[in-house]
Amino acid sequence: MFENNEIWWVTGAQLLYGGDAVVKVDGHSKEMVEGLNKSGNIPVKIVYKGTANSSKEVEAVMKAANNDEKCIGIITWMHTFSPAKMWIKGLQALEKPLLHFHTQYNTDIPWDSIDMDFMNLNQSAHGDIEFGHICTRMRVARKVVVGHWKSAEAQKQIAVWARAAAGRADAHNVRCLMFGMNMNNVAVTDGDRVEFEQRMGYHVDYYPVSSLMEYFKKVTDAEADALVEEYKKLYTIKIDESGEKVYWEKVKNAAKAEIALRRVLKDENATAFTTNFDDLGDADIDAPDFCGFDQIPGLASQRLMEEGYGFGAEGDWKTACLQRTLWVMNQGMPKGCSFLEDYTLNFAADCTSSLQSHMLEICPLIATGKPKLEVHFLGIGIRKQQTARLVFTSKTGRGIKATVVDLGNRFRLITSEVECIEPKPMPKLPVASALWVPQPTFEIGAGAWILAGGTHHSAFSYDITAEYWEDFAEMCDIEYIGIDKNTTISGFKQQLRNNEVYYMLNKALK
Ligand code: MN
Repeated sequence: MFENNEIWWVTGAQLLYGGDAVVKVDGHSKEMVEGLNKSGNIPVKIVYKGTANSSKEVEAVMKAANNDEKCIGIITWMHTFSPAKMWIKGLQALEKPLLHFHTQYNTDIPWDSIDMDFMNLNQSAHGDIEFGHICTRMRVARKVVVGHWKSAEAQKQIAVWARAAAGRADAHNVRCLMFGMNMNNVAVTDGDRVEFEQRMGYHVDYYPVSSLMEYFKKVTDAEADALVEEYKKLYTIKIDESGEKVYWEKVKNAAKAEIALRRVLKDENATAFTTNFDDLGDADIDAPDFCGFDQIPGLASQRLMEEGYGFGAEGDWKTACLQRTLWVMNQGMPKGCSFLEDYTLNFAADCTSSLQSHMLEICPLIATGKPKLEVHFLGIGIRKQQTARLVFTSKTGRGIKATVVDLGNRFRLITSEVECIEPKPMPKLPVASALWVPQPTFEIGAGAWILAGGTHHSAFSYDITAEYWEDFAEMCDIEYIGIDKNTTISGFKQQLRNNEVYYMLNKALK
C-alpha cells in the first residue's frame, strides 16, 4: 500500500547551544521518528533526514526532497529555537507538501531537575512558533499538527495528511484517457485542462475510440471465457428477461471490453479514464465487420474502478482524476469508495434523501453483499442494447462526496458530508445504487452544494473525511469548501463571497 512512498522528517535546530545539544536533538528525533513508524497509525514510512542547522542545510534538504521520487512530503519540527530566516530559501524552494508538527520530545517538565540547559534544549514551544511565523509570512501552505508525538490523536492527523500527500504525489503522475469527448453541451464536466495539470498535476488526453477498437478486436474468445469464469466465482449470476443465450453473449462481450480497456490503460500508462455513450466504435451495428461495444462498457468501468482506475462517465475527466486520488487515499480502508451521481430524490417530511446511481458505473467496493451480474437493456446513447452490469445496494453509515469544479479563474474542491441509509427494495432498478441524506439536512446540504456550483457526479467514500480533502486541496493550492453538520445557508454564502475575494488576491500575495 504506499510502499513506494516516504515522508521526510527534518528537525530544525542551530549551533548556538553547541555540538552536544545537536547530538541530543538528533537522538531524540530518531527516537520520535521510530516511535511514529512503530505506532501503526501512519501508513507511510517516515524517514529521518537529520537536523538542519543553517540556511544552506535547510535549502539542501528541501531541494533533495523535491528531486526524490519517493518523498511525498516533509515534516518539520523545531526541537530548539531555529531562527526562521534560516528557512526562507528552503521554503521558497520546497515543492512538496509540508506538515509542521508542533510537538516536544518530553511529555512532562522534569520539575525537580529542570535547569537552563534543559530549557534551552527543549524549546519547541517557541521554536515552532518562530517557524510558524515565517510560513505564514511567506504564505506557505502547510498543515499544522499540534500534540505530543506519542498521542494517537496527533498521529492520526499526520496519517490523514500522509494519505493526502500520497494522493497528491500520485496525481502528479496521473494520465487520464478520454475515450470520446465529454458529453456535448454539459458545462460542469468541461473546463481548463491546462490549468488542471498546472494546479493538480493530472494530465488528461483524448484517446481515439477507433484505436481502442483495435485492442477490442484482438481479444480472443479464450481470454474472454477465462474472465467470464472469474465473474462466475465473484458474482451471483442472475439471468432475467434477456434469456440465457443473450446473457452469456453480453457477459462475454463485456469481458472483452474489460480486457481491451485494461490493456490500453496499461500500454498508455494511464490510471484514469472516461467513456461516452455516444462513442462506442462503429456506428452501424448491422454493418458487415462491425466492431464496437454493445453499449457503454459498464461492467468494465465498475471493475476497473475497483482496481484503482479513476473513472468519470460522459467524459467527466475531472471526476475521473479525483476518483483516482480518492482510491489512492482510501487504500486499505474498510468501506470503500466510488464514482456516483445524484439521480432521484425521495422527499420525506423529516428525512429527504437522494438516490445515488448511474447508468451502470458504480464501484463494487461500496457494495453490501455479493454483487449480482445482470444483463438488461439500456436505451441511452448511440447503442440501445442489452448490456452487462453489477447490481447491488451500498453500505450504510457516514460518508463524504467530493468534486472539483472549474470556476473560470480557479478550481474549487467541494465536499459534502452525507449519511447513507437503507433504501427500500427496488426490484425493477437494474443498476447499483446508494441512498444518502446530505448533512445537516437535505435542504441545507443540497442547497449549499448547488450554491457552490457542485457537480452531479462525485467521488464518494465512507472512510475518508473532509480533513483529507482539505489537506489535498491545500497541497494543490486550490480553493476548498466543505459542507457539514454545522453548515448554514447564510454562513455558507458568506464563505463563498469571502473565498471569491481571497482567491482573487491570493495570487497577488505570492
Ligand atoms: Mn452521469
